[in-house]
Amino acid sequence: MSTRTTRLAPSTTGDLHLGHARTFLLTWALARREGWRIVLRFEDLDPERATADSRDRTLDVLAFLGIDHDGDPLTQSADPAPYRAAMRRLAERGLVFASDLSRREIREAVAAPHAGGELRFDPALRPPPGPAWRFEDPARGRRFATPDVVVEFEDQLLGPQRTCPAEECGDFAVWTRDGLPGYQLAVVVDDARQDVTDVVRGDDLLASTARQRLLQLELDLPSPRWWHLPLVHDAHGVRLAKRNDALSIDTLRSQGATPERICGLVAWWCRWIDEPAPVEPRRLPDLASPERLREVAVLESDPDHRPRVEQETITWLCSG
Ligand code: GLU
Repeated sequence: MSTRTTRLAPSTTGDLHLGHARTFLLTWALARREGWRIVLRFEDLDPERATADSRDRTLDVLAFLGIDHDGDPLTQSADPAPYRAAMRRLAERGLVFASDLSRREIREAVAAPHAGGELRFDPALRPPPGPAWRFEDPARGRRFATPDVVVEFEDQLLGPQRTCPAEECGDFAVWTRDGLPGYQLAVVVDDARQDVTDVVRGDDLLASTARQRLLQLELDLPSPRWWHLPLVHDAHGVRLAKRNDALSIDTLRSQGATPERICGLVAWWCRWIDEPAPVEPRRLPDLASPERLREVAVLESDPDHRPRVEQETITWLCSG
């Protein structure tokens, strides 16, 4: 059995669109080609937006696209115990604190606006030593006391990466006011308990990777290899989001798009075929070698070469 495992980690907060289809198809194809295990995880910790309906539709879309997985899916909301254990461990080491400051208070507390535009929680805003640093009442938002260090890692597609989370975002959220794990903590705990060795995902999460690496170090968890794929953009050059209903796989499917055309579009975006043509999902693993994915990532690091959904793309997809 393979010692390597990747994962598909859809958030069950809306319908999957063409950008998800590309990321999931490439992850699946790479894993099937290389003989890795593929585990599935439903990221459903957003109490306002996650729904069971979205989970069912996600499963349906994955099956439609020919994407299978190994073993039983993990659903984050099913059991809070592993996340609480991780929080207790961080608290024992004096690394997490409760803070009720609003975004506005955090923004206004720091004189100079931060260059990257991201809200930065300055260490000066940490509470004094005392109860706020214990993890007794889970119904309070908590942040990780980010050490002031540079994090370096080798992205399997994008090459060497070097960032300083303390400068970028400062102390980031690891636990919400609703008493639930925040994204960064949940991903780290789950990637470890699902034995994930290779994380393939969109490059919108590149900045999160260094934060996750810091949590892994403090929790004595192994760091996986990371493969960040450039995201798909719309005709205006804006990355696809769940609000692009017209580009949801369900909508396209109801208008005649087939899995073969969607795979053909993905292969064409990657320049594995010279012009759009239907490709059977089971042929994708032959095309998705790590070397070819690397070539695509390098090419697409130029904004002019990012995959884009134009009107003619949709017309072609739905003309099968
Ligand atoms: N659930 C996230 C998403 O759907 C992915 C998280 C991850 O890959 O770490 O965008």
